[in-house]
Amino acid sequence: MDISALQKIVKDRYFKTDSERGIYHTALWFHEEVGELSSAIASGDQQNAKEEFADVLMWLLTLANLMEVDMEKAIDEYLTNPRKLPTK
Ligand SMILES: [Mg+2]
Repeated sequence: MDISALQKIVKDRYFKTDSERGIYHTALWFHEEVGELSSAIASGDQQNAKEEFADVLMWLLTLANLMEVDMEKAIDEYLTNPRKLPTK
């Protein structure tokens, strides 16, 4: 599955609810998921970390939808940006 397809699934499934919640409270949910991922990594719980990685990605795409950011384009721009190349 490519990024655009996943972002569309997220939009189709959650956009109405996300819009009603608003960007600020949705950002809080995203931060909570990042915290849950950090806790899973810190505890070494691989199964839980896998779930939290998915949560974080889905909430990230939710935020992108609310901000009208096309993540496929954003990633393409990131990967071709010379400032994003590894440092020596
Ligand atoms: Mg979670």
